[in-house]
Amino acid sequence: MPAPLKADLLLSGCDVVTIDGKNRVIANGAVAVRGNKIVWIGKASAAKRSVTATSTIDGSGQIAMPGLIDAHVHTAQTLLRGKIAEIDRRRPVKIPVWWNYYVPFESMLTDEDVYLSGLLCYANMISVGTTCFAEAGGPHPDAMARAAIDTGIRGFVSLNTIDQGDHWPKTMITTTRKALDGNVALVKRWAGTKGGTDRVQATLSLRQIMTCTPALIEAMAEAARALDVKIHTHLCEGVYEIDYALAKFGKRPAEYLLSLGALDRHMHCAHSVLLSENEMDLYVKHRPSACHCAFGNYAIGPHRLLEMWRRGIDIGLGTDGAASWGSLDIFQVAHMARVGQQAVNGTPFAYRNVMPSEEILKVATNGGARSLGIEKQIGSLEVGKKADILLVDRSQLDQSPLYDIYFVAANTVVGRDVRTVVIDGNVVMKDRELLTVDREEIERRLAERLPKLMDRFDKMTA
Ligand SMILES: [Zn+2]
Repeated sequence: MPAPLKADLLLSGCDVVTIDGKNRVIANGAVAVRGNKIVWIGKASAAKRSVTATSTIDGSGQIAMPGLIDAHVHTAQTLLRGKIAEIDRRRPVKIPVWWNYYVPFESMLTDEDVYLSGLLCYANMISVGTTCFAEAGGPHPDAMARAAIDTGIRGFVSLNTIDQGDHWPKTMITTTRKALDGNVALVKRWAGTKGGTDRVQATLSLRQIMTCTPALIEAMAEAARALDVKIHTHLCEGVYEIDYALAKFGKRPAEYLLSLGALDRHMHCAHSVLLSENEMDLYVKHRPSACHCAFGNYAIGPHRLLEMWRRGIDIGLGTDGAASWGSLDIFQVAHMARVGQQAVNGTPFAYRNVMPSEEILKVATNGGARSLGIEKQIGSLEVGKKADILLVDRSQLDQSPLYDIYFVAANTVVGRDVRTVVIDGNVVMKDRELLTVDREEIERRLAERLPKLMDRFDKMTA
């Protein structure tokens, strides 16, 4: 008999939903982790013979599945959660919200405010099963990165990038040169491994086409190719943006990016809702990635997630941050995406259940990883991949009886059913207890800082 495999951690007795190429499910299975990698997956009974682990977590009554990926979030807007709804009760909200509230709010924040936002945002994400995030671009990205390091989450931070327009707060707009240099320097600062891990990295960012000059877009695209990193942007998100591109350049947004040499696999285009047929073809051909933020996207238009996914576009799911809808729960985004896709692609043709359970779970995991260019590292439970693993309760009243594990994982599980979270091989939440974060300390700091921030924000946006 061969010597047992040595592991640091064994998750055992769980139903393993791998979301691998064959969508394998192992009932009463086990997953072994050494360092930050998955080294063994199989039956729990076989693990008893084949694996010796330093520590074991009992996963009975739970599902082991890959961590979810939030492919579009605004860390620095976390402290605005619910604020626009509160303003709306007092006076009409100014449109567009990102322009009139989100960017001015971000402009007020100090380094420490963003760190605090990051602690709240990433601790929240971990608590609902998100193990990797992609920041859209905000102020003080190094503070975000510090918060990501400290909470134990995996992620990509990025810098707010605006170099045109005359109504932006002073701290939010910069010159083309400084925008480019700041982005490149950020990516270089967080490249490679730190403390033995590459868990926290940075991408480049362009806020969106209306706030960035053509010169900056061209230069950023060139930098992305040289550094081989993503540029995180918002694209085809509003009618005003389509009109801007058509009026100014005679092209729709994706066509405009192509004309600048900026539509390739380095471009990560959040939303991508209002695509023409030609733009959809351009996505397939030139391979920019995308992110469907289902909480908000159906207020813009009938997002074509399913068509994009089935045509091979690298697309994941995102929350768009806590300010817009409140929740950072990708399980709930997945529920909404599926209902939305049914309405867009199924219902008009009397085609029921147009998106099977396993397909939406795949978008939320594999799809997110592909959209960020890290599908070889994360996005499924497979030997050799990084150990970003959830143990999710499947024994609640609203999950019983259990006939189909994919049905449960895609329909009845929400983020709060996540019990234990492993990221990069480290247990960061165990039985719902966050191990890296002092929850009371976060609340104490929020109670101290929020009244001052909101007082200023109310005056600023009155
Ligand atoms: Zn956004």
